[in-house]
Amino acid sequence: MGNRFVKIIFLSCFGISLILLQPFPALTAAITDLRFWSAPDHTRVVLDLTEPIQYEVFSQESPPQFWLELKVVSLQIRKKEVDVNDPFVKKMSLTELGKDKVKLTLYQKKPLNANVFTLKPYQDKHHRLVIDLVDILQEKKEQEERQRENESRPKGTKIVVIDPGHGGEDPGAIGPRKTMEKDIVLKVGEKLVHFLNQNKEIKAFLTRKGDYFIELKDRIKIAREYRADLFVSLHTDGSFNPQARGSSVYCLSLSGATDQAAKILADKENMSNLLGGASARHASIAEDPDRDEILLDLMQNYSMKESFRFAESLLEDIKAVNPLKYLSYRQANFIVLKAPDIPSVLLEIAYITNKEDERLLKQKGFQERVAQTVASSIKKYFKE
Ligand SMILES: [Zn+2]
Repeated sequence: MGNRFVKIIFLSCFGISLILLQPFPALTAAITDLRFWSAPDHTRVVLDLTEPIQYEVFSQESPPQFWLELKVVSLQIRKKEVDVNDPFVKKMSLTELGKDKVKLTLYQKKPLNANVFTLKPYQDKHHRLVIDLVDILQEKKEQEERQRENESRPKGTKIVVIDPGHGGEDPGAIGPRKTMEKDIVLKVGEKLVHFLNQNKEIKAFLTRKGDYFIELKDRIKIAREYRADLFVSLHTDGSFNPQARGSSVYCLSLSGATDQAAKILADKENMSNLLGGASARHASIAEDPDRDEILLDLMQNYSMKESFRFAESLLEDIKAVNPLKYLSYRQANFIVLKAPDIPSVLLEIAYITNKEDERLLKQKGFQERVAQTVASSIKKYFKE
């Protein structure tokens, strides 16, 4: 501290330009926010930091507790204790240990597996430290339930998996009135699943049932566990141009994108993992170790043809609800559409960055009209 004091005096005598010649030693990182997201099988805790940090990890079995000691860190937040109270974690607290060490304690309701990783700044996100406390048993149970749904389906029943994009740390595109894509697509997704399940021959499920993030490859994994016959990812578009409007429909491309705009959109949607926070833990789960490449190619060909067929009929129907941005579907390299064995389509419902579209997207009536239209498109797709 003494050293810094001397330097401050030095700088104030000789002017600001000296900062470049004589930089300060590395500053203490500050913790500026603490949040959590509750998923069905884990709780994600996120710390916002001004600088990258070093930490040590500790845990104990009884009572089950997990804590991190963060080094060269100061606290710049008021809330030092937060009630989580989800199925896995009771609360979390931040306490200062000495002058530049902080302890983050997570009080668990049961034994959990911890997975800690950092995320680099991206767009308006700071350095982040992420702690996932995972209930492995629950994770397995969810997986088995999905497989059971597939095995117990009556003959002729089609399974549809609806994927509300983004979630948790990743808000998706944000409207002028701060409406978030992740909230709108979840609402439309819930309505769509409800309408689909009114048909005896269709069983529909969501990849994400709340405000938490699922990695893009894990969304495919969920659809494959259900052995879905169709996968529809729901999004709302965003643009720097506030006049941009219209619905659009996308399919996967294994070669290049159909145009530059489709490529930019796919790149943006694929960035979701950077915003939402992808851990290394799940990176390889979606890959099947003994997969047959030739068979996969055949399946991919078939599911792409089927995706185009559905995309065409969806465009035909959706234009009655909202004007189209393009008259035909576009193709690009969307990670979330890469299930080789499931026809997969991505719908950009409207532009959340357009004032008028944002107003519509927030309306329950509009959300229902979109959901009903997509549901009847899906029904038609299975009948043809
Ligand atoms: Zn999106």
